[in-house]
Amino acid sequence: MRNNSIRSVLILGGGTAGWTAAAVLAKAFGRQVAITVVESDRIGTVGVGEATIPQIRHINAFLGFDEADFLRATKASYKLGIQFNGWGAEGESYLHAFGDIGAPLGLTPFHHYWLRGRDSGVATVLDDYSLNAAAALQERFAPIERIGQTRLSGMRPVYHFDAGLYAAFLRRSAESDGVRRIEGEVADATRKGERDHIASVTLQSGETLAADLFIDCSGFRAVLIEGALGAAYDDWSHWLPCDRAVAVPCEHGARFRPFTQATARAAGWQWRIPLQHRVGNGLVYSSAYMSDDAAHAALLANLEGAPLDEPRQLRFTTGMRAAPWTGNVVALGLSAGFLEPLESTSIHLIQSGIDRLIKSFPDRSCDPALAAEYNRQTRFEYETVRDFLIAHYHLNRRAEPFWKAVRAMAIPGGLAQKIAIFRASGQIHRKHDELFAETAWLQLLLGQGVEPVAYHPLADALEPQALQRFLSDIAALIARETAKMPSHRDFLDRVLATVPTQEPIHG
Ligand SMILES: Cc1cc2nc3c(=O)[nH]c(=O)nc-3n(C[C@H](O)[C@H](O)[C@H](O)COP(=O)(O)OP(=O)(O)OC[C@H]3O[C@@H](n4cnc5c(N)ncnc54)[C@H](O)[C@@H]3O)c2cc1C
Repeated sequence: MRNNSIRSVLILGGGTAGWTAAAVLAKAFGRQVAITVVESDRIGTVGVGEATIPQIRHINAFLGFDEADFLRATKASYKLGIQFNGWGAEGESYLHAFGDIGAPLGLTPFHHYWLRGRDSGVATVLDDYSLNAAAALQERFAPIERIGQTRLSGMRPVYHFDAGLYAAFLRRSAESDGVRRIEGEVADATRKGERDHIASVTLQSGETLAADLFIDCSGFRAVLIEGALGAAYDDWSHWLPCDRAVAVPCEHGARFRPFTQATARAAGWQWRIPLQHRVGNGLVYSSAYMSDDAAHAALLANLEGAPLDEPRQLRFTTGMRAAPWTGNVVALGLSAGFLEPLESTSIHLIQSGIDRLIKSFPDRSCDPALAAEYNRQTRFEYETVRDFLIAHYHLNRRAEPFWKAVRAMAIPGGLAQKIAIFRASGQIHRKHDELFAETAWLQLLLGQGVEPVAYHPLADALEPQALQRFLSDIAALIARETAKMPSHRDFLDRVLATVPTQEPIHG
């Protein structure tokens, strides 16, 4: 067999995407591949992105991070879900809590029993059957794997963190695994003949850096994938019309919630993300319906403490790169696409992109068949996340012009079908291995007022008393387990007080 292995990888960009790629590739390939990160202090990073979803635990485990070190270094808090306020109608609220809800009986998902129980008055609210939800609402936390000796699963926590500190934490891991960092600004790229391949990049200093494979993590600038190779971008702003955000950190109020809040506002929505030392806030809005001044004012009027900085303005176009892997360039992070942060998916999309890249790792020829498969899988993931986000907008019952317009928009066929199936039967069909599981869809659809007219007929097989016992046993077990947990703040303080295993990172 020919040996045409990749010997060098150049990663352009040192944000969350660049340092995640560097740390994971270095851990996976060791010294077999020389990895260089080029980043520009002058350009800096996007500087937002504080909430994650459960998959981050896999990457942290792969990189061998100790959880207490990670929490200390990134000023993280625990996150059990997202609370959506005002997305159905003003004043309504629901949780998208991670993890299981109840437990299936035989072949039938739990929520069909719950729907039947709700009809007959023996079920309480859905949150009572989810350990993450029950703990979140009481602001408690403990890392429980399983509830006692039962088949009920335990907590599924993730984190809120300072993304800049996370990038620094990843950088330490990458550099200790041999990654070379160069500070400088890429000014030009030289192509290899006529093909969509880059041979080298040239820095403003005049230094030229060649590599076999280039990973474009240059953020919204997309220096290589778009600047050098001209790869097209699929614009999805007709479905996700918010195109701006303004962000500002503030002091903590009295609460220390283990969940993100996403509150609908007149022409968009506001996030609130509690970290150890501050609360991250931002308003995502549509510039067609709200001016920048009005957005600044609305954000500053809705903080739980004094602002700690000047508000920062960001602009974006929702969508994805038509071919995120083109030639010998793979785009990751914001250069590959952007789906607004409503369900905290961007950092996950970086991680799953790296995972896919490792699975389809090419040799120096960068066979187009591998790129095509990578691009197919990436598109599937982006499109299914996109549809989940669109549902939040489309299913609103608010009165403002922005909300009326997104309610009336034509939605992708797959999403319309999903909503129709749920309305008719209570069934939720996960599309292959799409990111959001049935429980996520269930909470979204019910939370935004989609009421099914039926539940699965198998749920009727249970005698009424058995149904009542089944539901009340689960709720009681969850309530008992939650009551034993310490508060989120107490648990975190306890973890942070443990002896560090390594020097913490500052800055
Ligand atoms: C408003 C908003 C809120 C968000 N909230 C979340 C969230 O809650 N959860 C989540 O998962 N994600 C969130 N994201 C997304 C998240 O911020 C990004 O996915 C993540 O930070 C990765 O960014 P990046 O590394 O791709 O780009 P960046 O952070 O922009 O990094 C780009 C890097 O490229 C370098 N660079 C650029 N051009 C050059 C050049 N010519 N030469 C050398 N270096 C160069 C820069 O210096 C920098 O190091 C949010 C994004 C936005 C806009």
